[in-house]
Amino acid sequence: MNQQLISFPPLPQLPVQMLSSYVGTGLIERDLIPRYPQFNPEQAMAYWRSLHTAERAPFRCLFWMEPQGKTGKTAIVRFLYDFEGKRQQVVGKTLNDPDAVKLLIANSRAGSFLTSIRWELYADRQCEDLIDMGRYDQWDFLSGIDESKLESLKTRGITPTGNWDFDNMFWPKNCNVCGASVSVNFHLYNIDSVTCQKCANRPYLSSSIHRYLDDVEGMNDLEMTEYAIRHTLGWMSDVNAKFGNVRRSIEDIGGERIENLWKSTPMARILGSAGDDRFRSLLETNTGLDFGMFKACCDKMQKALSGAEPFREEHKIAIDFVLRTVELLRVRQLTTGEHK
Ligand SMILES: [Zn+2]
Repeated sequence: MNQQLISFPPLPQLPVQMLSSYVGTGLIERDLIPRYPQFNPEQAMAYWRSLHTAERAPFRCLFWMEPQGKTGKTAIVRFLYDFEGKRQQVVGKTLNDPDAVKLLIANSRAGSFLTSIRWELYADRQCEDLIDMGRYDQWDFLSGIDESKLESLKTRGITPTGNWDFDNMFWPKNCNVCGASVSVNFHLYNIDSVTCQKCANRPYLSSSIHRYLDDVEGMNDLEMTEYAIRHTLGWMSDVNAKFGNVRRSIEDIGGERIENLWKSTPMARILGSAGDDRFRSLLETNTGLDFGMFKACCDKMQKALSGAEPFREEHKIAIDFVLRTVELLRVRQLTTGEHK
């Protein structure tokens, strides 16, 4: 995707940020793998909003404000259950001012997941006189209000409150090793790339991998276990995770569970010996691939997973080569029956 070819408006300026960050909390930002790598976090958020505009929302939520008394200084805000306005619910009473009403609407739905819904605010019960509309997000509720207006509303007790993460952008989790609170904007980042700032564990990835390995272990099937190890190593390398990042619990020092599983594989055993003649013959007879190259790739794999070398593109290529070669070898052995 070429950045020059994509145009979208930047994020509107806000008098107050209801979401503390676009990224997340308690994590190491440089480890994150973005879904839109061509953009910085703010641009990525703006781009995501451009894909989820109010106009595209499939559902509508209708409100109207009814001025009260002779002076009309206050208004009752009503939510319409149906488009004819026969059934209504009072949301609350506030100043007869669309800014105050928008804050009331947002606060009244704080903590809810409303990503596919747009709000529409009308001056009349028939919903013909539209005052404003938008998405359920901080930008559409707040960007039309300036700072001094927000301050003056605050003196009347009208201020944004509650959880305004209406898009459910942030996925909170407690780290399975140190217990720290972590959250990530999973619309913008791969959750498996989240590293806990406190202990360097990967809370989301670890939970998924160890749950998967627990299930496989329960099957007591050697072939399935071998497959699971290869799958796990591929999964880890996709998000640049080392053994020490993928701990089962605080007792699993340095990620021993997965490291020991890796050590039990033929790839790791080949590295341990000066050269495994049996494997060399299996590989070269069944696939025609060069054993020296395979061994060099295993070595590269080991260095990345143990943290001796940081993950780079060449490590991923090497890991992919090793895992696919072993898979191919298995298939060839099964189909030709050679050297079983
Ligand atoms: Zn932690």
